[in-house]
Amino acid sequence: MQYDILQTEIEYLKGVGPKRAEVLKKELSIYRFHDLLHYFPFRYVDKTRFYKISEIGSVQSYVQLKGNISRPKMIGAGRGQRMTAVFNDDTGTIELVWFKGFKFLKDKFLSSKKWIVYGKPTNFGGSFNIVHPDIEEFDAREVKMNERFEGVYNSTEKMKNIGLNTKGINKVMKNLIAQVGQAIPENLSDSLLQSFGLLSRAEAFHEIHFPSSQESLQQAQIRLKFEELFYIQLQLLLQKRTRYLKNKGLVFSNVGDYFLNFYNNSLPFELTGAQKRVIKEIRNDTRTGHQMNRLVQGDVGSGKTLVALMCMLLAIDNGAQSCLMAPTEILANQHFNGISKFLKELDIDVRLLTGSTRAKERRVLHEDLESGKVQILIGTHALIEDKVQFKNLGLVVIDEQHRFGVEQRAKLWKKNLTPPHILVMTATPIPRTLAMSLYGDLDISVIDELPPGRKPIKTMHAYESKRLRVFGFMREQIQAGRQIYVVYPLIDESEKLDLKNLMEGYEAISRAFPLPEYRVSVVHGKMNAADKDHEMQRFARGETQIMVATTVIEVGVDVPNATVMVIENTERFGLSQLHQLRGRVGRGGSQSYCILMSSYKLSSDSKKRIEIMVGTNDGFVVAQEDLKLRGPGDIQGTKQSGTLNLRIADIIKDERLMKMARDAATAILEEDANLKLGKNTRILGFVKLLRANKTNWSVIS
Ligand code: ADP
Ligand code: MG
Repeated sequence: MQYDILQTEIEYLKGVGPKRAEVLKKELSIYRFHDLLHYFPFRYVDKTRFYKISEIGSVQSYVQLKGNISRPKMIGAGRGQRMTAVFNDDTGTIELVWFKGFKFLKDKFLSSKKWIVYGKPTNFGGSFNIVHPDIEEFDAREVKMNERFEGVYNSTEKMKNIGLNTKGINKVMKNLIAQVGQAIPENLSDSLLQSFGLLSRAEAFHEIHFPSSQESLQQAQIRLKFEELFYIQLQLLLQKRTRYLKNKGLVFSNVGDYFLNFYNNSLPFELTGAQKRVIKEIRNDTRTGHQMNRLVQGDVGSGKTLVALMCMLLAIDNGAQSCLMAPTEILANQHFNGISKFLKELDIDVRLLTGSTRAKERRVLHEDLESGKVQILIGTHALIEDKVQFKNLGLVVIDEQHRFGVEQRAKLWKKNLTPPHILVMTATPIPRTLAMSLYGDLDISVIDELPPGRKPIKTMHAYESKRLRVFGFMREQIQAGRQIYVVYPLIDESEKLDLKNLMEGYEAISRAFPLPEYRVSVVHGKMNAADKDHEMQRFARGETQIMVATTVIEVGVDVPNATVMVIENTERFGLSQLHQLRGRVGRGGSQSYCILMSSYKLSSDSKKRIEIMVGTNDGFVVAQEDLKLRGPGDIQGTKQSGTLNLRIADIIKDERLMKMARDAATAILEEDANLKLGKNTRILGFVKLLRANKTNWSVIS
């Protein structure tokens, strides 16, 4: 009830009215006081003082100057046309430059008025100029009012037409603050405010729109960012808890013979500490009687498959069936072969189901699944089909999850009366804070350790002109008994040009590495599944030394004897894709190499990507950098999630605050899961308000 004032429709605000309200709704989705209050300035103008032209050399950012503008002059014609004018105060002269909009300006400068000029001076051939400065007539009476930081608001053409430019918004905002001011209710508890030293909510909104100093502006930003992140995290945690309480899960109470036999007798190597830890986490989840939903993140080569396998053994020990779903047939085949090999000493019924499985085989398979004979089923999307029914499906493993949609996941849930435990494995390294928000509904395990003895992959950049040397190096490696991938970009599998590129590359390589000494495989999306698999198998068995391929090998393919990854047209790949591809080598004990081939024409972003790849092997660092280059909006899956539609916080820059908010939310719920304690009343009230408004994430505050 006390929130009502912020729910007032925007047209009732002084200075708005129906006409402006219409535009605000259409242009900015501002419907209520609340929405306008959350329309933050995108930058601030420092109007606390006037600088002198003589000081300009010593400041790096925006300055406010006071003086005269004279001698407007048009230079050039057509697209290059611009206008310059001279600006001076009593200490010197600089030039102002406009590339557009000068029609309206020209005549203004013919009078002898004084002007306030605001902008960022740049040093241009020894003298300073300001391009597209904000200018304003100097009015001695108004200066007092302006002696502060002033918010600059984004505005659209339609808004400007009805007087809602940044100045107009400022005025309306002033009315809003005047009206709601102290009535803005606090939504954080006193103990949160105290322990993080946060401004009150009312103060914060006042200061973010009308800062009284640089410091208080910063305080306001911190407070509002914290609030935003805190309520996102709190809601995620609450959702997770609700689901946890609601969904019963199968109880895996035993660690039995299958698991122990495998662990003691079949496992060809020691598990890494990280693998052990993650298996323990899964073990703990699956014996509680609650359904597990866990994401296992691990860099390429960290041994996720093995973790999945051991969990499937745990399921079998508890009388349940498991399935493992892979995004491609190649991968499903590989998992089937790899897992069958691991399990050859154990008497376990493992089957494969893909689009290529024959109808007759399928019929038998369906029966054996329903009777419970099959213990582990490995396959592709084919597993999801309704015809595929289990007797007692206890665990679903989804490999390389980003290729599966949420709906598909949900279909798997329904394959058992009690929903099976779900384990999602991904090598797409997502920075942890981002993962927290993206997969807030999943628990997260991280395999942050590679099996011992792995040598870091050496990554190099080579221009086209070095091709012969690269071929020479490839020969050396083949002589030493190693195998090589050469990968071509095929963004769209139907793109003829890309396919032509690949085939030409294949021919060039076949010429440079001729039979009978060398044998070259080729795999691309236009081939049918059986041919693809045949070629993969030949390479995996070491019968061919070079695999020319498109990105179909990007995920999961495991041939430990392959030590060289040559990537063609590197500039056409994204960072995380490059990292995935690189992860196909460095899987055995031998030194491995990744060679990034490129043309000379590189954009600055391509250069940066190549530098990052050469500079680090760490998938999490790559992911961070990727995030910085592209912004979170482009990371797979984030577009739909909406979680990242933040109003003020920045998922990359505010990582620390996000962690603090997450920890604070966790601590509160640990002590008071239902937010029933008196000290959490405000928090509960706000959560209820969010729910009542059926808030999508972007409008919470
Ligand atoms: P990814 O995490 O990329 O899926 P895989 O599960 O394919 O990695 O494992 C990569 C390789 O490392 C495989 O050949 C696997 O058998 C091997 N491997 C897994 N765990 C270990 C370990 N603890 N010690 C040595 N090798 C391991
Ligand atoms: Mg894998």
